[in-house]
Amino acid sequence: MKTFSIAIHGGAGTLLKGQMTTQKEAAYRSALQGALDVGYSILANQGNSIDAVEAAVKVLEDSPLFNAGKGSVFTAEGTHEMDAAIMEGKDLKAGAVSLITGIKNPVSLARDVLEKSEHVFLAGDGAMRFARDNNYEVVPKAYFYDALRHQQWQDLKGSNAFQLDHSVKKDSKFGTVGAVACDAFGNIAAATSTGGMTNKKWGRVGDSPMIGAGNYANNNTCAVSCTGSGEFFIRGVVAYDVSCLMEYKGLPLAEAASEVIQHRVLKLGGDGGLIAVDAKGNVTMPFNTEGMYRGFKKSNGEDQVLIYKE
Ligand code: ASP
Repeated sequence: MKTFSIAIHGGAGTLLKGQMTTQKEAAYRSALQGALDVGYSILANQGNSIDAVEAAVKVLEDSPLFNAGKGSVFTAEGTHEMDAAIMEGKDLKAGAVSLITGIKNPVSLARDVLEKSEHVFLAGDGAMRFARDNNYEVVPKAYFYDALRHQQWQDLKGSNAFQLDHSVKKDSKFGTVGAVACDAFGNIAAATSTGGMTNKKWGRVGDSPMIGAGNYANNNTCAVSCTGSGEFFIRGVVAYDVSCLMEYKGLPLAEAASEVIQHRVLKLGGDGGLIAVDAKGNVTMPFNTEGMYRGFKKSNGEDQVLIYKE
């Protein structure tokens, strides 16, 4: 049987080593392992990569530890505006949503855009109308509340500053989430979900829901989910750039991903990382920050959850 694999991330950045307690670290590790196991069991039961990445991301969205779904950061208006995308490498089908509120699992709404609409990307009020038309429950703001996220917003409220959730300048929690997978049939998929940046305004949208920037999948090359300073990842068209280096330059997965994160993104002034798989089940997880919440599990028995450069 072909090798199958899944990789996940819970955001680049992480708490500085000195600020991380044993308890906090255990909580992050167990949440990441839980998401990996859910996604992997779908693959192990002959499931599809798109089901695996959606299921893994849902677990991370449901955890308040990460900046996606429950635990999303606060906007300048004190609300939560979430973005998500999902893409299949087999036929390049994609779905994405941005600026949505009150939806517990934005990644599932993105999948419904892929499957139930003629479109790829729905935003704001229209995306919310699509959610209601598809019987999504719109939950009260309180569901998304997290005390530390609220404190992060209080620190910036009223100022023009906005803050990347994974900034290491403050003792903050981090975490856009994502998953990439290669199933036993050699099909790959990617999903990404985020609350964006604390104190963001004007309908700011980052790279996460943008196909080719923060999320991309193509069976001929790779499936990629990014995390980092979204503006730079958009300008660098990062996920697609990794794919292009493989397609046009013939670089292997790990080399292509490393070139983009360690050279091209840094050159633009951006920080962050990505997770990626190819259709042979290879996995790579480069980042240029202090750490990145991440993990992968492969049918050859490899199973790892990592936070720092290890
Ligand atoms: N890339 C996300 C954004 O800019 C943030 C993150 O990765 O934490 O919205």
